[in-house]
Amino acid sequence: MDSDKFHDECGVFGVFCKDPEKDAAPLVYYGLFSLQHRGQESSGIAAAKDKTIEVHKGMGLVGEVFNPEILSKIKGSAAIGHVRYSTHGSSSIENAQPFVSRFKLGSIAVAHNGTLTNADVVRELLEDSGIGFISSSDSEVIVNLIAKNYKKGLERALTDTIQFIKGSYALLVLTGEALVGARDPNGIRPLCLGELRGAGSGRNRSGSWILASESCAIEAAGGRYVRDIEPGEVVIINQDQVLSFSFSEKTRRAVCSFEYVYFARPDSVIDGIDVYDSRIRVGEILARESAVAADLVIGVPDSGIPAAIGYGRATGTLFGMGIVKNKYIGRTFIAPEQSMREKAVSLKHFVIRSEVKGRRVVLIDDSIVRGTTSRHLVSLLREAGAKEVHIRVCSPPVRSPCYFGIDTPHRKDLISNAGSAADLCKALGADTLEFISVKGLLESLEKPNGAGGSRPGFCLGCFTGEYPIPVPGETVNNEGL
Ligand code: SF4
Repeated sequence: MDSDKFHDECGVFGVFCKDPEKDAAPLVYYGLFSLQHRGQESSGIAAAKDKTIEVHKGMGLVGEVFNPEILSKIKGSAAIGHVRYSTHGSSSIENAQPFVSRFKLGSIAVAHNGTLTNADVVRELLEDSGIGFISSSDSEVIVNLIAKNYKKGLERALTDTIQFIKGSYALLVLTGEALVGARDPNGIRPLCLGELRGAGSGRNRSGSWILASESCAIEAAGGRYVRDIEPGEVVIINQDQVLSFSFSEKTRRAVCSFEYVYFARPDSVIDGIDVYDSRIRVGEILARESAVAADLVIGVPDSGIPAAIGYGRATGTLFGMGIVKNKYIGRTFIAPEQSMREKAVSLKHFVIRSEVKGRRVVLIDDSIVRGTTSRHLVSLLREAGAKEVHIRVCSPPVRSPCYFGIDTPHRKDLISNAGSAADLCKALGADTLEFISVKGLLESLEKPNGAGGSRPGFCLGCFTGEYPIPVPGETVNNEGL
């Protein structure tokens, strides 16, 4: 349905309850519900009890895969869960996560958000040593590598595995005794730590912990955000302690900047930056960089709206709803042909005629990928009587693919590669078209004054064509790593 957007890849959520009699699966269920925007194809939960791990997973949304009866059967005080959008491997039950490996020394389960850039090589090596695979997912490589190294002990098995794999990963590992979280040396995908509210505070902590892709999910499961997992950090949570160590001597933060623009939920905080606030700032910066005389500013729902509010505040332009999204059209609507995609856009958005009629409208969108949505929205606005339509975009032109866990069209299908900005504006039927600059986007991601901490670095690969990790045939910008 949303072929005109970058697609997020996955969300991960894990809980370790101090009380061995408590079941963690219901809490993971709440967490996954809050991460549903990160993947709608499949979902799964694995729980550990008495050193064995059981998993339930299926195709569909969290609410379709789980019901109270299924949840009541997933026993264990530690559990991990996953929602998936396929970026590596097809959309099928074999590729649904968490992956579980049962071997002589025990069982482990893995839930992964990201993409391994050397998965094929590692897979071949594992296959040569007699290890079989049931899926085509790169994430199964991780579970098999950990299982292979497990005789060295958990810590060593994790370190050896993580040093072998390349790419982006926010990783959860569940064993019979521990819940583990790890983030790649660039921290490309987000991962944070929370604590379940309950028994204690201060020195008397509750001792029950959460690991989640986004902070919004921690709140949903009844926890409080504690901190982000650092790039190159492993956290091992068990009955006795929360052990943290860095597995990589050289790390350089390069968080996906698109998380802030589009993927993450607006009520999340990633690496100390409030996602909603950053979107408001994008609007303010767009106003400074490319304001235009207009009567109304509207945002393409959902992520264009905060930027439209910021733009309106900064320019004094009236902010209105203008466009409404059909909430009931979702992943079940499949539009494989370009001609059908155009129609699908009409089903997804409606224009409020009375709001836009006779007005000069600024239309703010989070990104332009293929251009299908923007072109259609401009024509809907004109049909509804808008006098002028000026597009302002919250991200720089998308010109390159993502190799780190985001589903992107081929380079040739990215409309920003099809011609000059003037050509693009004409193709979309707009009066004017401006994108935020790379500098402006980075400025929107600066931590507010007094927030403390060093300014994080960001991946800008799909805008600049320079990636933080070597990718065959692409330019690498990993200075300092
Ligand atoms: S290439 Fe783009 S989408 Fe991919 S991680 Fe980097 S900023 Fe995010």
